Amino acid sequence: MPIGSLLRLAGESLAEALWPTRCVGCDMPGELLCEECRAGLPWVEQRLACPVCGAPFGFLTCTECDGAWPVRATVAALGFRGAPARMVTCLKDAHELRLAPVVAAAMLTALEEASAWPAADGLARFDLRATDGVCFVPATASAYARRGFDHMELVARELCAASGLALADVLVRRSARDQRELGREGRASNLAGSMSATEDLAGASLLLIDDVATTGASLGEAARVLLARGAASVTACVLARVW
Ligand SMILES: [Zn+2]
Ligand SMILES: [Zn+2]
Repeated sequence: MPIGSLLRLAGESLAEALWPTRCVGCDMPGELLCEECRAGLPWVEQRLACPVCGAPFGFLTCTECDGAWPVRATVAALGFRGAPARMVTCLKDAHELRLAPVVAAAMLTALEEASAWPAADGLARFDLRATDGVCFVPATASAYARRGFDHMELVARELCAASGLALADVLVRRSARDQRELGREGRASNLAGSMSATEDLAGASLLLIDDVATTGASLGEAARVLLARGAASVTACVLARVW
């Protein structure tokens, strides 16, 4: 075993002794996400979800998007309450990077379920074989500088490794105000022009991922940029949907 791996292992067992793993959902020592919290995850039932914005009960009539949503389909894995909200915070603000594959696995589970249900265009909400690449909504430059990593890039890499899809790391973002302080219109105007794509995407069908969708402003801005650079379609997937 190379010395780097040995040192990392030693570091991990030291960390485990000093700061034992606790469940992100309930704080119980032991696992990253305990059995009880795993069993209680608020999965969105894709059959009932809005095919446009991913809201959990919008299949027939959606009160969350009026069909006006910037991507062809949105798949949300979980409702944003309890453990999913803490998963996002722990991953990006508490640097619990071991959550990246957990988040990616939750998204892939939802995408697989959603592939059995139609989007507004009549095609499957997600089609692995028709997807050319995975993009992620990038962190702002200031968030990246503060955290030292982009949590959605880590999730995108895990998702690609698990699915065989190619990473399309093409979006860049200048600093904008933190979206959490703003309402729907403020979010959209705060983001206008804040992202750009580094490559032409002629004809590509892309999967765009983010941690949380609230008004769809970040997804919308990213999708607008991808489509302007030639992408044929953008399907979104988020870990959690606020509604
Ligand atoms: Zn728990
Ligand atoms: Zn909707």
